[in-house]
Amino acid sequence: MEPQINNNVRKLETSLIRQVLMKSREIEDSINLTIGEPDITTPEIIIKKSADYMLNNQLNYAPLGGVAELREEVAKFYNTKYNSNYDADNVMVSVGSTEGLSTALKGILNPGDEVIVIKPAYPLYEALITLYGAKAVYIDTKNSSYKVEASMIEGAITPKTKAVILNYPSNPCGTLLSEDEVKKISQVISDNNVYLISDEIYSEVVFTGNKFYSPASVDNIRSKVIVINGFSKSHSMTGWRVGYIIAEKNLRDHLVKVSQYTISTPSTLSQYGAIIALRDARDVGESVKVYEKRALYIYEALTKLGFDVVKPEGTFYVLADYSKISKKESMNFVLDLLENTGVATVPGAAFGTEGCIRVSCTQKIEILADAVKRLENYILLNKNL
Ligand code: PLP
Repeated sequence: MEPQINNNVRKLETSLIRQVLMKSREIEDSINLTIGEPDITTPEIIIKKSADYMLNNQLNYAPLGGVAELREEVAKFYNTKYNSNYDADNVMVSVGSTEGLSTALKGILNPGDEVIVIKPAYPLYEALITLYGAKAVYIDTKNSSYKVEASMIEGAITPKTKAVILNYPSNPCGTLLSEDEVKKISQVISDNNVYLISDEIYSEVVFTGNKFYSPASVDNIRSKVIVINGFSKSHSMTGWRVGYIIAEKNLRDHLVKVSQYTISTPSTLSQYGAIIALRDARDVGESVKVYEKRALYIYEALTKLGFDVVKPEGTFYVLADYSKISKKESMNFVLDLLENTGVATVPGAAFGTEGCIRVSCTQKIEILADAVKRLENYILLNKNL
């Protein structure tokens, strides 16, 4: 008799984003607009000070839940920026926001629970919810300008709902919620026995004229809010694997146990790098300007080519609906573009939304212009895609 793997693990599939990325690597001269890996380098001060730290200190295990100085800096960062009243005991350091999300969901979910996920959605949410034996319940925002409304959340809550996950600025849509909408959603959370998990990994990547309003700003739901954030996107620190959870103290202590029995503690050096990020490199405005210029360029270029494009307000993603150009399923459309132009994008199916592609603007503008030229040559010459 063969030993069997876990039933929930069996349900998981390799991410479509990774599948396209692997295919694009087989194609010569391809342009990779798939994964959300910033091409801008980590601020030099973080690298230099971390290298010095490593030369002069023994890297031991960090304390459970994270280095105290980092937890203090994170609490201060949120309190200054979002008018919250957190302290270091509300913060748990994680291995990227990925582990933060995993630990938060593992810590609160029981089999059979439901979690409300806003579609289009970052694929990790459903994978984790499935892994922990719960069920993702989707709210599609295609007809509400890719922004969830409080009434939609209210309508989706059932006695089984354990949590609602918000991700604004949104991957893949690049959209934000207004302060007014966040307040209305907070009222729904306040009226119901549910957690609000706010994945704020793109909170620093917000374009001119827009403002990110965190649910952490709303006093009367703070005990139900689980903030997930990190340094991968704001400070181009993807490989450092450092992020954090902010939550009510008692819940945070439970989550530290989950994390302890999964990863022990995050890398001590990366935590030091994150302290430098918050102390010495807090202003990431220059990088955001670069992302904004690129995202708006892609927005305009794809609109001219006949896509219906969601105007990005933050992040470095652009979501484009191609249904006026082709009726193909998104994976086939993406493979078609890749084979014929060498431009690799992500199929909407990866985010649970067909008829769309996501373009990651993590290449220099000249490379984006080359990608647009190739798409233009292909799309305008082939009427029957
Ligand atoms: N959440 C969202 C919405 C993301 O797009 C990503 C990465 O792309 C993550 C979380 C995970 O980021 P990390 O684990 O590098 O902090």
